[in-house]
Amino acid sequence: MNKYTEDFKKKLNKGGYKITNQRKVIYDVLMKSIGEHLNPEEIYELVREVDSDIGIATVYRTTKLFEEVGILSKVLFNDGCARYEVVLSEDESHGHHHLLCKNCGKIIEVKIDLLNELEELIEKEYDFEIHTHSLKFYGLCKNCKEEEINGS
Ligand SMILES: [Zn+2]
Ligand SMILES: [Zn+2]
Ligand SMILES: [Zn+2]
Repeated sequence: MNKYTEDFKKKLNKGGYKITNQRKVIYDVLMKSIGEHLNPEEIYELVREVDSDIGIATVYRTTKLFEEVGILSKVLFNDGCARYEVVLSEDESHGHHHLLCKNCGKIIEVKIDLLNELEELIEKEYDFEIHTHSLKFYGLCKNCKEEEINGS
């Protein structure tokens, strides 16, 4: 059993769930999409290639369950579409921030995080205990910016 499978088992058991074949298939698909931000329909498309017996309702149910036990984390953008990404480490409450291109919908991950200082400031100023923060930037990606300049 590799590290990922152990983690999978541990998280499911903690939530009181068992490993089923379908959950395993969906989990494997997600593990191959690390770093991507997929909505349930896109997850379903990938799952269907592996096991066509798994319906979209099962995928919806399973992504919710995976979110509950901390395998997936939901990323919400202004477009109202819920996307999921794999949680890689438990102590990282939010591994990174996101840039969303308003033109092509591309999502870019940003690892730069200068918010720890701001958090300290806010905690002092407002006597508020911060557990996490989420930050999204909306704009145009490199390609779309160039297209705009070229007027095509
Ligand atoms: Zn773009
Ligand atoms: Zn991400
Ligand atoms: Zn941050």
